[in-house]
Amino acid sequence: MTSEPVIIIGGGQSGLAAARAALTAGLRPVVLEAGSEPVGSWPDYYDSLTLFSPARYSALPGMPFDGDPDRYPRRDEVTAYLRRYAQTVDVDIRTRSRVTAVRPRRDGGYLVHTDAGDELGAVGVVAASGSFGNPYLPTLPGQDDYAGDLRHVAHYRQPEAYAGKRVVVVGAGNSAVQVAYEIAAHARVTLATREPVRFLPQRLGGRDLHHWLRVTGADRLPRRVLTRLVRHATVLDTGVYRDALASGLLSRRDMFTAFTPDGVSWADGTPEPVDAVIFATGYRPDVAYLKPLGALDHGAPRQVGGISTTHPGLVYLGLEFQRSFASNTLRGVGRDAAHVMTALAAHVSRRPRQRRQRKADVASHLGSGAQR
Ligand SMILES: Cc1cc2nc3c(=O)[nH]c(=O)nc-3n(C[C@H](O)[C@H](O)[C@H](O)COP(=O)(O)OP(=O)(O)OC[C@H]3O[C@@H](n4cnc5c(N)ncnc54)[C@H](O)[C@@H]3O)c2cc1C
Repeated sequence: MTSEPVIIIGGGQSGLAAARAALTAGLRPVVLEAGSEPVGSWPDYYDSLTLFSPARYSALPGMPFDGDPDRYPRRDEVTAYLRRYAQTVDVDIRTRSRVTAVRPRRDGGYLVHTDAGDELGAVGVVAASGSFGNPYLPTLPGQDDYAGDLRHVAHYRQPEAYAGKRVVVVGAGNSAVQVAYEIAAHARVTLATREPVRFLPQRLGGRDLHHWLRVTGADRLPRRVLTRLVRHATVLDTGVYRDALASGLLSRRDMFTAFTPDGVSWADGTPEPVDAVIFATGYRPDVAYLKPLGALDHGAPRQVGGISTTHPGLVYLGLEFQRSFASNTLRGVGRDAAHVMTALAAHVSRRPRQRRQRKADVASHLGSGAQR
């Protein structure tokens, strides 16, 4: 095992999968997690959140979910699962430790700075800090003067807060449709989208879609191949969302073009008072601490398959489409973790100082063995 650690930034599913893979690769991982426990962003997701994949297709390497493998675990169950997972991965996890900057060292290693003023040396760095901390909010004309409730879906928790209101949800992905649907039981809701909402059936031939993604290999296809097959955002649906749109419980309109002080102006120029607008417009990697390193391009990691193209010894985990459609999911991150850790271990073993240290470790091991 290496003497200096590999620092893993973020203690969510990506960071935990990285820690496990680091041990397997013979590296010494130290996880730095900004929050109070290593469960990632799951406790902060909206209350009703249920996994889109059944338990049997939602586990991290080495620890299946307990209970019925065909059920769809809820948010709090996932949090509890990650809490247990962190206990089984026997590594140094330091909570309440937010990384503020990563800087290069002359010998090819890194210095990792935290908000507590610590400065840790590392042979390699894994950026596994997710994207939930960096929600993407577009700006439209009039937005600053809108007096209603405007928020990103990252800050949405439950539908009751919208009872009796007029609500617009922006977006055509899973979160947009799920949230719009549940608010529609309490309020009048329109989905504002650039394109029609497209659905993927949750079940096909009596089996969950994730079964087919696995057996066909679609789950492992790289982005360039998959986007040729599936050109648009799709929403997993058991039929309830399609029915809600067909029955008028939920309506859809082309994206509005501007805000008015009390609502929105639709694409045809019609203004409408609206109490609340929720943007379900995605997230961007939350990696501002890599700016001092020069590893980013307009905030986005410069990487291929999770391996930095600018800094040897820097890798990423949990990026959207890092290596496949499943990269940013519970079921897919373990594969990517093994991939980037193999590359990181190879990098570490090529470093001259590390090789010297390893020889010294072996020599002292043999020496102590000879005395026994
Ligand atoms: C609403 C929603 C629903 C989803 N549903 C599913 C689903 O059903 N199935 C599925 O497989 N996936 C789902 N995902 C996708 C993905 O699995 C989750 O987003 C998951 O939380 C990503 O894990 P992560 O570890 O990469 O990031 P996160 O869970 O965001 O964890 C990152 C961790 O890094 C920490 N951190 C951030 N910055 C720093 C810093 N500077 N220093 C130290 N620590 C830091 C954070 O505190 C956090 O604990 C969903 C995502 C969202 C947003």
